Order: sequence, then C-alpha cells, then structure tokens
Amino acid sequence: MDNNQNNNDEIKNQDAAENGNNEKEDAYEKICYICRRSESRTGKMISMPNNIYICPDCMQRTFDSINNSGFSYEDIMKNMPPLGGFGGISFMDMNENNIPNKQKIKKKEKNKEKGAENIIDLKKIPAPHEIKKHLDAYVVGQDHAKKVMSVAVYNHYKRVAAGRSDDIEIEKSNILMIGPTGCGKTYLVKTLAKYLDVPLAIADATSLTEAGYIGDDIESVVSKLLAAADNDVEKAEHGIIFIDEIDKIAKKKETRSRDVSGESVQQGMLKLLEGSDIEVPVGATSKNAMVPLVTVNTGNILFICGGAFPDLDEIIKERLNKKSSIGFAADLKDKYDNDPNLLQQVTVEDLRNFGMIPEFLGRLPVVFALESLTEDMLIRIMKEPKNAILKQYQKLLDLDEVKLEFSDDALAVIAKAALEKKTGARAIRSILEEFMTDIMYEVPKDHNIGTVTITADYISKKGAPLIQMRGAEVPLIEVR
Ligand code: ADP
Repeated sequence: MDNNQNNNDEIKNQDAAENGNNEKEDAYEKICYICRRSESRTGKMISMPNNIYICPDCMQRTFDSINNSGFSYEDIMKNMPPLGGFGGISFMDMNENNIPNKQKIKKKEKNKEKGAENIIDLKKIPAPHEIKKHLDAYVVGQDHAKKVMSVAVYNHYKRVAAGRSDDIEIEKSNILMIGPTGCGKTYLVKTLAKYLDVPLAIADATSLTEAGYIGDDIESVVSKLLAAADNDVEKAEHGIIFIDEIDKIAKKKETRSRDVSGESVQQGMLKLLEGSDIEVPVGATSKNAMVPLVTVNTGNILFICGGAFPDLDEIIKERLNKKSSIGFAADLKDKYDNDPNLLQQVTVEDLRNFGMIPEFLGRLPVVFALESLTEDMLIRIMKEPKNAILKQYQKLLDLDEVKLEFSDDALAVIAKAALEKKTGARAIRSILEEFMTDIMYEVPKDHNIGTVTITADYISKKGAPLIQMRGAEVPLIEVR
C-alpha cells in the first residue's frame, strides 16, 4: 500500500509538472471509472474514495446486477476486500489521477454554456477581402483559389455565428481543392487557420479505413481536431479539418474484394461532412475500453479536402473533346493537350468519373483547382512571402553580420531544377539546403567576410560564390 502511495504521488507530481500546477486539473471533467464517459454526458458523478467517480447509469447497473445475483447486500459487504484494492490490484493504480491530461476533457466555461452557438462573433469575422489580403502575404499566385476560399470560409463562419434559429438554413460550405503536389494546398489551409485562430487538424485519407479494419477509423480525424483544440470540445466544434490525398479514396475500378479504404471511406465520411454527433476517443485514435469518449458535433466544423487527382486532366480533356468534335465548329483533337490550366475547368461530372461518389461530392459544394507552379512563381515563392526561404537564410547569416545575396540568374537555375523534380515548391528547400550547408559551414570561419553572393555558376557547380570581404571582392570558397 505504501508503495502504491509513493507511485501515486509520483504520478501526481508528474501530472502537476506537465500542467504547471495542480489548479489546472479543475479545468478537466470527471470521468466515469467504469464506462469512461465524461460528466457532461452522464450527469452528476458519484464520488468514491481515491478520486474514483461512477456515473449514475453504471451505479444503477451495478445495483441491478447485485439484485439479480441472488446474494444479499450483507453477504456481499462481508466478502468485500478492504477499500483500496483487491486481488493485488489497487484502485490507486487506475484512479482519476492516472489519466493523462491529453485524455481528459475540458469543462465548458460557465458563461459560454448559455450562448454556446454564438461564441463566434459576426463582427469579428474578417471580410473576404481581408482574408485574401492576409493569404496574399504568404501564398504566391493561386489568386482564384484564394478568392474562392476566402468567400467560402467567410460564409462558413457567418453561418456558424448566425446559429440555427433562422428559418433559412445556410448550407455548409465544405471545400474540395484540386491541385498538383507542392502547389500550396496545405499551406493555404494552415495560413488560414492561423489567421482565424481556429484549431486545425490535418489528416491523410490514405491512412483511413472503414471502422474495424487495420488503419485509422474515419472518426479519428475528429479526435485529431479535439487534440488540436486542447481537448476543448466547443473550440473543436468550430475548427477546420483538412483531409489530404482525398483522391486516394476514389472508388476502385476492380472491385472483386471489399473496398475498405476507398468507396466505403467516402460513405463513412458522409455523416461527418454533413454534420452529426460523433463519439470520439479522447487522446487516442481508436476506441477502446480504457479511453474516455466524448461527443463532438461536426455541424460547424469546416471540412477541406485536397488532392492531386492524377489523370483527372485526361478525363476533362476527353469530355471537352467529345463536346467539340461534332459539326463545323469541331476543334483539333490536341487543342487541350498543352493547356496548363485544364484542371480549372473541372466539373462534378469529371470527379464522378474519377471515382468519387455523388453523395460525397454533394457534401463538398465549393470545388476549385489550383494552378501548377511555373518557374516565375517558384522564384517569387523563394523571395516574396513574409517568411520566404531566402529571407530565412538571410536572417541566419545576418546574425553573423554577413549579408547574403542571390543573383537573379541563380534563382532561375534553382527554379528550373525544382520544376524538374515535379514536387512543386517542396523541391526548393532541398535544393537550397544542399549548397547553403557549405556556405553556412565556411562563412563563420572568417570574420572578415562581409557579403556572400550566390551566383548561377555556383548553383550549377561551375564556380564559387562571390565573397566580398569587408573591403575587396574576391572569390574565396572552394567548390566541392
Ligand atoms: P501541397 O499542395 O502538396 O499540400 P504544400 O502546401 O504542403 O503542398 O506546399 C509545400 C511547401 O511549399 C509549403 O510549406 C510552402 O512553404 C511552399 N509553397 C507551396 N506553394 C506555395 C505558394 N503558392 N506560395 C508560397 N509558398 C508555397
């Protein structure tokens, strides 16, 4: 028992250290020792010694089973082990204090309980042009996408703020984004969520499977959002869930076996997208007996799905060619072959042909495509955004009081190399990292270096960067 006490104290201390202090514990809900539900769902808990709580339902069930067992209460009480544990297992091992905070549910704040619908203030939602202006500072190009997204998000939060009391119910504006890899889909969503100060969960559709199969349950995306909202259910209910690689759950063409990660995942997501009460495990991605459960309503959660949809352009091309191949106005068959923005002409019909089911598409009313990045855009991505990668390197060297410059033709060479890798803007970092490592290794060796200019020759491994000492201009650094 003593040992247990020590262990328990240790755990308490750990928890307290995690929290900063013990007072914060009060911010979390009590959890039923038997069914693991929280107090807000079960009703007032009955407190037992050692911080064990039992909900009224489980208590009733316990009494019922005793009544049905044929034993009298006296028999049972006589044979009960002393409080504190039996069979070598102590209550102490499993009591309330041993549940990590990440599995506890935040209590509702009292003043919020009454007007829970209206925690988003209509006046505080930034107007679409303000949202777009903010996105402009971080995301290069993608004008159409930024505009459509700003309006959709603005409308979504207006709908949330307006509540459901009006006779006209505004429909949910979930979003489907189509665009090649590395063109800024995730980045757009991240920037947006940060600006709006709402929790964001990013999930990958490839890991999702129908409940009961190996992989994450579909509802795990809501668990992730709850974790991002610091287990605050209300905050999570106004958050954003971004599901990437959504094209990977298209209906499989060959369906001899059960399609547990394709069509059935789309089916499973329907109720999530539409808005319903979902029982999710707290602090874990799958339900089991030891994890507390909480109900989250997804009605006001904004779902954004994104995917590269390879070969969708072929489907669009086929449709366009069919349309224009009859009569005098018939176009040449290869008219659309080199159209870089073919994806912008996507319709729901095309997506259905790709393998998305109509019910799923019906719940994603805002559909738009992003542009593929051009050499010009890649150059701008390197230098223009607020936290552009070149600015980051410049800041790093600035701390050594060295000025870092990039010649225009050097940037063009990097952009060309990045385009070849076909991973969008993601390639830029790996290319830059490769030769910036040398610069950042060599430069601090010599305190007399004043300016380093990265040239096209250096990037193409034909020469050295230009080094300007705090005086003359001489190439110094040897190329690998
Ligand atoms: P994906 O479209 O595959 O989701 P990401 O949004 O993750 O691509 O892009 C990867 C990285 O590339 C981002 O973190 C961001 O730094 C950069 N990036 C991509 N597109 C843009 C863009 N249009 N403007 C600015 N940065 C971008």
